[in-house]
Amino acid sequence: MKQYTACEHCDYLLNAPVLSHNECAFCPRCGHRVSHRPKYSLQFTLSFSIASIFLFILSNTFPFLSIGVQGQQNEMLLWQASFEFWNHGQELLAVLVFFVVLLLPFLLLIGLVYILWPMIFMRSLPIGTCWIARYIFKLKSWSMVDVYLVAVLASLTKLASMANIEFGIGLWGYISFSICLSSALANLDRRRFWQYLEKVRCHERLKQQNQPT
Ligand SMILES: [Zn+2]
Repeated sequence: MKQYTACEHCDYLLNAPVLSHNECAFCPRCGHRVSHRPKYSLQFTLSFSIASIFLFILSNTFPFLSIGVQGQQNEMLLWQASFEFWNHGQELLAVLVFFVVLLLPFLLLIGLVYILWPMIFMRSLPIGTCWIARYIFKLKSWSMVDVYLVAVLASLTKLASMANIEFGIGLWGYISFSICLSSALANLDRRRFWQYLEKVRCHERLKQQNQPT
């Protein structure tokens, strides 16, 4: 089956080649890099996703930061941030923070582990793989965990001048989580994923054919 792909730079339609490890394909018209296959990219995505889930739980379980004003010290957890926005009348911001910072990254990670673990270790496709993968690639661009991290760090430097701030384990967990999640998504190549899925599907078919009836 021929797979055509359009060059992102000049829209030239070309027959996408199947690449080996560390190979790149370039557009014959403009020389733009059309696809790239890093070694063990999906395995890296799975490893970083599992690490991210643990770090996400850690960053939501331990105090994110504690703020001291006039002798009073208050501790805050990461998930409490959206509830605090809601309590202070910022409903839209609260919903946005809840979805973009908490719910979407978590669903993305669960989805990635759910489909990649059986594909890599058991050579099988779990139920709904194609459907989940399509949503993962759609959600990928909405995961703004790195943007949120920069915003948090910028706010903290401003807050530090007004109150006594102590960084908790949750914040360090969240910084590590952001790095791991960004690395997981950076290694997730759409074309490589669908080619790997086709390979696993062929493997499944062969296994079924070889089973004694
Ligand atoms: Zn091109």
